[in-house]
Amino acid sequence: MMPSERHHVKAAYEKRYLHWKDKAQPVVTHIQANVRFYPLRGIADIALSLTLTNHSNSRIDKILVGAHPDFTPENIDVEGATLNHYDVYTQQREFDLVNSLLPGQSKQLNVALQVANKNLWTSPTHHVIRKPFSYLRGVPLIPSIGFNRYFTLTDSSLREEAGLPALQYPIASALTASNAEISAEAQTVMVTSQLTAPVGYFTLAPGEKRKQWTEQDGDEHTMTTLYATREPIRAIPAWIATEFTHAHEPAVLADKSVEVNLIAADNEEAKDVHLRAATQTLAWFEQHIAPYPYAQLTFVFAPDLGPSGYALPQVLIFDHLLAMRTTPMEDGFDQRYRRAVHEVAHQWFGHQIGFGLPADSAFLVESLAKYVELVMLEPRGTMNKLVEYEARRYAHYQQGNTTPPVAFINGTETADVYSRATLVFAELRQLVGDKPITDTIRALFERQKSKGKPVAAIDFVRLLLARTNRVHHKRIQQLFLEES
Ligand SMILES: [Zn+2]
Repeated sequence: MMPSERHHVKAAYEKRYLHWKDKAQPVVTHIQANVRFYPLRGIADIALSLTLTNHSNSRIDKILVGAHPDFTPENIDVEGATLNHYDVYTQQREFDLVNSLLPGQSKQLNVALQVANKNLWTSPTHHVIRKPFSYLRGVPLIPSIGFNRYFTLTDSSLREEAGLPALQYPIASALTASNAEISAEAQTVMVTSQLTAPVGYFTLAPGEKRKQWTEQDGDEHTMTTLYATREPIRAIPAWIATEFTHAHEPAVLADKSVEVNLIAADNEEAKDVHLRAATQTLAWFEQHIAPYPYAQLTFVFAPDLGPSGYALPQVLIFDHLLAMRTTPMEDGFDQRYRRAVHEVAHQWFGHQIGFGLPADSAFLVESLAKYVELVMLEPRGTMNKLVEYEARRYAHYQQGNTTPPVAFINGTETADVYSRATLVFAELRQLVGDKPITDTIRALFERQKSKGKPVAAIDFVRLLLARTNRVHHKRIQQLFLEES
């Protein structure tokens, strides 16, 4: 699909389905995935069974199920429901339930789809099925339930062109309990995966390995592995099958040991840098924020996937060139270590908090990860190098910037989210020290847990003000909330 065509589909989607936004819909609480990789043929067969649970207080009689236009399923059916309408253009299906789904009740949705490599190597959606490396992401393969804001147009001029009203999300600093729109993505899920690949492949899915067996499938000898999560995770599982080398090393922490898997870590020195970053960052979180909730953490050094680093729950993807084949600068500043710390931090910032609130995530995800970079680089003597680097980047951005000034927590530009964040947290640490900051982050986690609702960037500022001396409040407000 051409990008311009996608805009039309998105506009049509919003016009046709916005009224579903206020209808009670079930949420996905469990994903059972069967994935069969055929790396030599460049395809994967996927069968998903989703448990849909009614967490609302109303009965549900209709369910809207959407698929991504690039990954159209062969079949979708909902247990005890009939397909009332199938809108091919926007890939939406409306199901009528024979018996209402009452509060607390669940139903199964089954979907079968085949993913094929369309590009020579990777695609913008990251999916790749190849020998020696295959990688599938649950989003956008998993159907979405109800109205999904991710299917809508966000660009303001495109919205105007399509005759859609301007988006009116409150800005991050103005978010309150009553105006916060919580999206379906806020729901975490349990994931069970059964992955099958030719013998010789190492497969990976969220959770822990439960069972493994080999089989003869035609003239192919396959290995199947069953994985299951022990705790609910953010609903963006990744499924991987690779022939690359893999190593397992323990990261020994005060309270437990985490198994660190390193896939395609073919440079010993670089492997040690990543393992050290993993151990030290996991230990810091265990001591100051909350322990790592899983038993395993996997580093995948993948060829040419686009971003230099990318974090999924329990799985971190790094660009092989930048992570394995680059040496640190002469001044001792090791971007590999810094990048690894940053991606490990997303196991908390991004995957435990910072999702589920439209237009309020950058700070809790990226800016807090920059704070952790500062904390981890300081004892290694390279924190100032990071601050200088980000100060230069930010000054450069400001010179060419013509957009109106924004408050830091409302910023969505890379310059605000990363560079300005580094400068703000460097100053804040000098001003009040780390304790009120880590106390605030812990309080954010506790609040999200106890309320069961996503916390917001503004909560960080409020909780920080409550934990710092009044003499610093004016400067804290300037740093986080004043437009500049
Ligand atoms: Zn990041």
